[in-house]
Amino acid sequence: MAAHLGGPWPLRPSAAAPGSAFPWRGIQTLVLLGGVILVLTLVLRPSIGLDLFWNGLIPLAPALIVIAPGVWRNICPMATFSLLPGRIGRSLEWPMRHRASAVLTMLGLAALVLIVPLRHLLLDTDGPATALMLTTAAALALGLGSLYDWRSGWCNGLCPIHPVEKLYGQAPALTPTNARCGTCRRCSTPCPDSTRSMNPLVTGPDRLAKVAGHLMTGGFAGFVLGWYQVPDYAGAVTLDRIAAGYAWPLGGGLVSLALYTAAYRRYGLTAAGRTRLARLFAAAAVAGYYWYRIPALAGFGPHPGTGMLLDLTDVWPALPWISRPLTTGFFFWFMLMRHSETTSWLIRPTRVSDGPGGQE
Ligand code: SF4
Repeated sequence: MAAHLGGPWPLRPSAAAPGSAFPWRGIQTLVLLGGVILVLTLVLRPSIGLDLFWNGLIPLAPALIVIAPGVWRNICPMATFSLLPGRIGRSLEWPMRHRASAVLTMLGLAALVLIVPLRHLLLDTDGPATALMLTTAAALALGLGSLYDWRSGWCNGLCPIHPVEKLYGQAPALTPTNARCGTCRRCSTPCPDSTRSMNPLVTGPDRLAKVAGHLMTGGFAGFVLGWYQVPDYAGAVTLDRIAAGYAWPLGGGLVSLALYTAAYRRYGLTAAGRTRLARLFAAAAVAGYYWYRIPALAGFGPHPGTGMLLDLTDVWPALPWISRPLTTGFFFWFMLMRHSETTSWLIRPTRVSDGPGGQE
């Protein structure tokens, strides 16, 4: 079986890469190697690693997830780690129950809320700490892949980026082949890769999953805007810094959650109303992110030096006046005004038991 699939391991049928002219497997390997090099750089050359990761790669991620979440899902190095045990036949492949999935989803959201403010307190300025965070995530991904069926434990469960994927990836412009699942074994219900117009409100029946979806959809925009009001703190992590680092994003999150909840009561009675509202708050979150992020990269952030890649303040003082309307206009247009087919992140592969299937 493995020979015609071209992988280095004895692949199981459900793990088979789909037939595709696009070299996804090669790109996955390159991205994984890039991740290993990044972790080494963070430890051995922290200033280069920190710039590369936090000011180079991470600012690109939200736009990629908005425009082509399926591309991200096909190449994410943590997913490659998580699927390794299943690929080599070393996963226990526990079926994912709705309750366990909901608990993992809520824990993933809690991890997101914990880690993002930690950037200002520690991670943005400490290479080895960032490397430790990435290796811990990789170990968790591997561990959950060893226990749970295929993508259900990490990619569709505990991964702290997964709530962001569901919020931002509501109107993809691209729907590539699913390069992770040769056939669908229904590891997750609903499958985020194959469900049309996926958003955080599309969950299994467990109430905890629905609460997590509501919190993420309503709270994230304010969380992002609040996060930008805090500078990077170099040096000791003191109690007052911890208080400021968490109070701003959590306070902002509570304000936008309250606005969302009020709007949801009025406009969330229909599926179309809920979708519109989820897209509106997603657009606000990603537009808010780039409102601050692009100027900050060039030295125009609210806190001098924080998040800066290159100081262009003397060279191009008009940059924020150009980037802010452009990015804000683009993301509101992309998520709310663009004519977009309801589509999924990835093309659903053939199901194991019932022959060819379409998107959900
Ligand atoms: S396509 Fe099927 S096997 Fe792949 S993640 Fe979705 S439910 Fe799981």
